[in-house]
Amino acid sequence: MCGITTGMGNLYEFRMSKWLEKLAVFSIFVGLLALASCSSPSDSYRTDRAGARSDYGATASSGGEVVPAVPSKSPSALYGEANVKKSYIPNGRHARKYKRYLDPKYITIHSTQNFASGADAWRHAQALNNGKLRAYKSRGGNRIGYLTWHFTVDQSVVVQHLPTNEQGEHADFDGPGNNTSLALEMCEHRGNSRSATIERTAKLTAWLMYKHDIPLRNVVPHYHWRREGLSNPHKNCPHYLLDNGRPGAKWQWFLSRVNKHYKSITNGSSTLVSAGGMPDSRMFC
Ligand SMILES: [Zn+2]
Repeated sequence: MCGITTGMGNLYEFRMSKWLEKLAVFSIFVGLLALASCSSPSDSYRTDRAGARSDYGATASSGGEVVPAVPSKSPSALYGEANVKKSYIPNGRHARKYKRYLDPKYITIHSTQNFASGADAWRHAQALNNGKLRAYKSRGGNRIGYLTWHFTVDQSVVVQHLPTNEQGEHADFDGPGNNTSLALEMCEHRGNSRSATIERTAKLTAWLMYKHDIPLRNVVPHYHWRREGLSNPHKNCPHYLLDNGRPGAKWQWFLSRVNKHYKSITNGSSTLVSAGGMPDSRMFC
């Protein structure tokens, strides 16, 4: 009885394994088809990214509005205007003892809320480079015992602290904000021009969109990232670009500045080209 049962069992198993083999081949075929369609984003995706709608409402290029024309310039010219100086945290020390690879898909905007006199971009670089910005490391909280981010912006300069292929520790612990975004901090010390800082931030953001193929809708305030485990999971940051602690008209205005600079280096988005049939520079000259 046992033998027969085993024999039938073997036959059954043999048939099942053949069936599973066919299923596996079919799955691989379907998987390859899906991969093929994912790995080659369509041109419309690539060219329409400035016009894509943000989670927080319309962008400057939608709803029939038109962004004022600006002279076309090269991406490197815009990068030059942002005035980025590199001062990386020493490799292997302090916050860079711990490296996590970053493939940037988002850009997160913060403000420092550091109102101390002289707390400009270079002062923040000094603190980061000397390992002074400690944080309480905990499971589900800060992962490395330090705060880090990629760029600090003030009225006259941008200082870069991390390469763009390394994760910072600035938004949401082990959440998607830290895992997928580049972080910009805007200075708020006394005497620093807020408008000049915002404009420099908008220029750098536009250049980073271009450099890393990031759509405007993926330019987000820190508020966007949910900080699990906190009673107030959505931080009011950057506070002066939010309305009552949430993205609103001020955030829209900031996105329109970013969009303007993005268009200045991409010679207009396809939104306007397809609508008017002409490039931006001709429509507005
Ligand atoms: Zn923040």
